[in-house]
Amino acid sequence: MQRTTLAAVNGGETGSFLASYFGLYYYAQTPTNHRGGYMTAKRILIVGGVAGGGACAARARRLCETCEIVMFERGAFVSFANCGLPYFIGDVIVEEEKLLVATPQLFRDRFRIEVCTETEVLRIDRDRKTIAVRDLQSGKERDEPYDALVLSTGARAVRPAIPGIDLPGIYVLRTIPDSRDIRRVVANASRAVVIGAGYLGLELAENLVRRGLAVTVVEASDQVMPTLDREMAAFVAKHLEANGLDLRLNCRVERFTEAAEGGVIASLSSGEDLPVDSAMICVGVRPETTLAEHAGLTLGRLGGIRVDEFMQTSDPAIWAVGDVVEVRNVVTDEWQLVPLAGPANRQGRLAAAGIVGAAKSGCGYRGVQGTSVCQVFDLTIAATGVSEKGLKAAGIDDYEKVYLHPGNHVGYYPGAKPIHIKLLYDTTDGAILGAQALGEAGVARRIDVISMALQMGGTVYDLEEAELCYAPQFGATKDPVNLAGMIAANHLRGDHPLAKWEELVDAHAQVVDDQSEAARLLSLILRDPAAEAQIVDVRSATEFEAKHIPGAKNIPLEQLRERLSELSSEREIWVVCGVGLRAYNATRILLQYGFKVKNLSGGMQTYDSIEETPSNKA
Ligand code: FAD
Repeated sequence: MQRTTLAAVNGGETGSFLASYFGLYYYAQTPTNHRGGYMTAKRILIVGGVAGGGACAARARRLCETCEIVMFERGAFVSFANCGLPYFIGDVIVEEEKLLVATPQLFRDRFRIEVCTETEVLRIDRDRKTIAVRDLQSGKERDEPYDALVLSTGARAVRPAIPGIDLPGIYVLRTIPDSRDIRRVVANASRAVVIGAGYLGLELAENLVRRGLAVTVVEASDQVMPTLDREMAAFVAKHLEANGLDLRLNCRVERFTEAAEGGVIASLSSGEDLPVDSAMICVGVRPETTLAEHAGLTLGRLGGIRVDEFMQTSDPAIWAVGDVVEVRNVVTDEWQLVPLAGPANRQGRLAAAGIVGAAKSGCGYRGVQGTSVCQVFDLTIAATGVSEKGLKAAGIDDYEKVYLHPGNHVGYYPGAKPIHIKLLYDTTDGAILGAQALGEAGVARRIDVISMALQMGGTVYDLEEAELCYAPQFGATKDPVNLAGMIAANHLRGDHPLAKWEELVDAHAQVVDDQSEAARLLSLILRDPAAEAQIVDVRSATEFEAKHIPGAKNIPLEQLRERLSELSSEREIWVVCGVGLRAYNATRILLQYGFKVKNLSGGMQTYDSIEETPSNKA
């Protein structure tokens, strides 16, 4: 039976397709393989119609004109830009329609994909290969048969068990209706608390500030942005405070109570009661695995669905993509949950290929690097690969790190801004393990380059030799990416010994108490900085006067060769400057004169970031 024709498909008619959806299968003129299609007439059902689900549906159609594709979405919208929601709240995106990347109509007209919004999938019957769905408008339930089922059910926001968390005025942000609610309350609010200082909490906090609210961010751990290492997160914290955010680290909301004058009171672990008009809960997400669990699909230790490289679950007729799955980390090879839009989209494409038989060996999912970027106020924060704490947690200890703070472009061209970079690499072969960068300009581009190198199994020698765009307004003849590679490669070749701040501490380590690592480190440096090493600060006298490490000796680089006699050749010399460049030159001079010398990686910039970690001020 021919329900529709390719002419009708191309002409944009929807009637016959809709007829096919209501029980009659869709047999078009069958495209043949030589036309690039896949000859299968599978009925593909997709649960979840946003990032992974939408991508999977569209890709499946591009690969297969003869498949019937139906997408079920519990909410009223499909393919909406959840990443844009904080900016909708902040009035950066003003029209709500702009958040709709695709509509059900577009899916029907352009792709002949049937979309059932406000339809919840209740159960999977794997034996019968059916799903039970409920139309949330009418309350009616029906069964839908499938040949292939895709779960792109995403994640749900964690609502911690804080007494009073269900009071009015307390929100999570996942959907367009959530953002409407928050916009409504924000219009008449003057004070809010955001719980959680991950990227979503900070984006939301920034947008609330943009709307004129006084915002307190409460974070249980001792740093913002948990994907970053602490000393990098310290830059972010400083920037947040400079922009008027009230940041409380090492602090928890212990309960919410209704305020007599409206709003809620957030009682903090510090003992303070914070009266606010509204509270935003941004403490993370958990994979939405209810359907998968009840259907008996294999889940991993982290609670996500386990899939193979083409996103096939333990049931060969069911695929899963996006926030709901566990994925392998490319560096540590450990299973991980990485709720990001890019991976969800790419996984959706791969599942589609797997379903229609277009999966090519060697072209499956490569694993996740956690490449991410976010902006808070003027600061862009980006990362790829594994952080130092992630390496430690995975038991990887043959790594090294460099810090650098180059400009985003040459200094002589107006408007150069520093980029603070931390690069982690394997000391055995120089393989790139991870990178973090912060700054006002050019940050994402650098992390993207390093991310690609990491995915290709690249090394610091590859970064050293990378041929990157250069003109004065874009970069430098030695791009920050090249510089990171050069510093690391010089170090591995033995041309440029590096000291880490914590090495300095290790030489003196006597105190381990319950302070944060950064605070402990700083106190040790300040207590006895020069007991083992001679710290030589090679900046100018003026810079030295403005701020220096206690106990450091100032020998400006220009005077170093004349003042070598002031240095002991018995004790190791630790050279420091502003960002590490002058200290690198000093290291090379001193090495050639036979001194034992190391460059304190990242210079005073890194020292500042440790010293100014907000938790250290407590
Ligand atoms: P989702 O896109 O969440 O879609 C899952 C859908 O499944 C939901 O709409 C849900 O209603 C539906 N569903 C679940 N169960 C059922 C059921 N039983 N029946 C029917 N429907 C069901 N990522 C980035 O990379 N960069 C960002 O800047 C970024 N910003 C974000 C900002 C916000 C506010 C949010 C909420 C997320 C952000 N993310 C960002 C994360 C990104 O949006 C997700 O990683 C991505 O959307 C995951 O895609 P998914 O298909 O797995 O799930």
